[in-house]
Amino acid sequence: MKKHINIELLAPANNLHVLKYAANYGADAVYVGGKHFNLRSIHGNFTLKQLKEGVEYAHKRGVKVYLTLNAVLAEDEIERFGDYIQELKKIDLDAVIVSDMGVFSLIRKIWPQVPIHISTQANTNNSAAVNQWARLGAQRVNLAREVPFKNLQKIMAQSQTEIEVFIHGAMCISYSGRCMLSKYMSGRDANRGRCAHSCRWKYYLMEQERSNLFFPVCPDKKGTYIYNSRDLCLLSKLDLLAASGVHSFKIEGRMKTENYVSLVTWVYRRALDYIKEGEFHRNNIQKLVSELDKCSHRNFTLGFMFAKSRHELEDNDNVGYINRYRFVATFIRYSKKHRGPVLRVKNQFRAGEQVDILQPRKDPLLFTMGKILDTAGHNMTCANPNDTVIIPGLGRISKYSIFRIKAV
Ligand code: SF4
Repeated sequence: MKKHINIELLAPANNLHVLKYAANYGADAVYVGGKHFNLRSIHGNFTLKQLKEGVEYAHKRGVKVYLTLNAVLAEDEIERFGDYIQELKKIDLDAVIVSDMGVFSLIRKIWPQVPIHISTQANTNNSAAVNQWARLGAQRVNLAREVPFKNLQKIMAQSQTEIEVFIHGAMCISYSGRCMLSKYMSGRDANRGRCAHSCRWKYYLMEQERSNLFFPVCPDKKGTYIYNSRDLCLLSKLDLLAASGVHSFKIEGRMKTENYVSLVTWVYRRALDYIKEGEFHRNNIQKLVSELDKCSHRNFTLGFMFAKSRHELEDNDNVGYINRYRFVATFIRYSKKHRGPVLRVKNQFRAGEQVDILQPRKDPLLFTMGKILDTAGHNMTCANPNDTVIIPGLGRISKYSIFRIKAV
């Protein structure tokens, strides 16, 4: 049975390049960071000029852009923050995302027209908090990841504003927005966008007088990773979440590549289409989960929302990332002469290998590359990072295609 659902799919973008992929792979909205006052402040992010260009690009395609301003503001930053907001006012942003009450009140004062979304960093766990944010003028609240599904349903029944939830991506093992571990262990403050992921480190026990002797604390032979969270994946529960009335499904990953963002956005766009068409059944879900396996991830969990025990959240079996596929190239243009795409190489591949090609809104395509040519048309046995190469005979493929190869 076909269903009318209208849930926003919200994808991350670390830069203009990734924003274009997210928009083309089916995001309804993207969230990005500026160069100041947002978490994830170490790499990437948008200058004011890039932000303007990104907003124009997205709006032409019917995609919204939200800017994260979710760092905690220090007293001596207030004036600089005000100046930044004056600059942002010139850009046609669809919303800003905040967590700090000071940031919230300054934006309300300086830029009252802009919709404000409350970040997960604000750690909103109940309908009283949601509705207080609504009374203060927030248009949307992203709930803390710690909210279980039965509480989400209660919140939805009473909420006076839009609700957004994370459906996919890395998780903190600490309560949202309240982690001091990274700051304590490495001096890098997670609440100012500089998290060192200390929760994923491997820990030993050391006796005071024997500082060079480390004793493993082993729940099993792999060691002790007591804080090591799995990655959130709510794909199999998406129909339940859709039925709950949530307004926006958010994908985590503002540090991720175009490969990751494209694939995860493609998967969840397809899942939402299946729900609309009454085709969200086990076989289709399983196919989509297999697709998710084609980019780097940790073992998946249903998170605090659906997991039945803490053992379903932490991961001592797989202590690193699972990489079953190599991201090898992106599409540049079509070569009429060679009847195939010209590619920018990201990771090495060889003639004779089979590529798995992800394309916006289409099924993935498998192709065995009989030949690889350089731009002068000469045969190459091997393509290396940063090369520009041609795959003759593949035919026309979509502009934002991504090439992956299964690891042996
Ligand atoms: S150290 Fe871990 S739990 Fe703390 S903020 Fe960073 S990722 Fe989250």
